[in-house]
Amino acid sequence: MKIGNVIVSAEQIDAKLAEMGARITEDYQGKNLILVGVLKGAFVVMADLARHIDLPVEFDFMAVSSYGSATKSSGVVRILKDLDQEIAGRDVLVVEDIVDTGLTLHYLLKNLEVRKPASLALAALLIKDGIDRPPLDVKYEGFHIPPKFVIGYGLDYEGKYRNLPYVAEVEEVD
Ligand code: 5GP
Repeated sequence: MKIGNVIVSAEQIDAKLAEMGARITEDYQGKNLILVGVLKGAFVVMADLARHIDLPVEFDFMAVSSYGSATKSSGVVRILKDLDQEIAGRDVLVVEDIVDTGLTLHYLLKNLEVRKPASLALAALLIKDGIDRPPLDVKYEGFHIPPKFVIGYGLDYEGKYRNLPYVAEVEEVD
């Protein structure tokens, strides 16, 4: 494969995260905010978004894997790594790289809801348009993109390219 067209540039990402961070800073004044990143993809978004949040936030991570093929989500999610801490009574903001079918997040939010956080919201850098998905309230959203497989800024192709500072399409070559 080859790295294809850039869909969202590094500059656009940084400007958007600054905007999202400013809103989060305003909305969570006086709250006990914990950011929950969904590994592995969200670690890049989380690191950069967090530095635009002017509050004493805490970090935690979950790792999940969805059964099924590598490029199609099945909706059956296995928790590979759970949170290190309790979230009862905490204000939880789940940070995701991309919402595709939304099935992973749908499962994750239901799972976290049971733990009785004071609030539970969702931030995602990328939302794929034109996908039939369960209703998902993304409170802080970055960019709407076409329903294509993308790489970079945390998103991989066979484990690689997560370190690209931008989001690009994949070009298949023979
Ligand atoms: P969903 O459950 O919304 O279908 O997506 C779950 C996960 O699939 C995302 O968090 C992400 O890790 C992965 N994913 C979805 N779309 C893409 C994509 O276009 N590129 C890459 N590299 N991963 C994706």
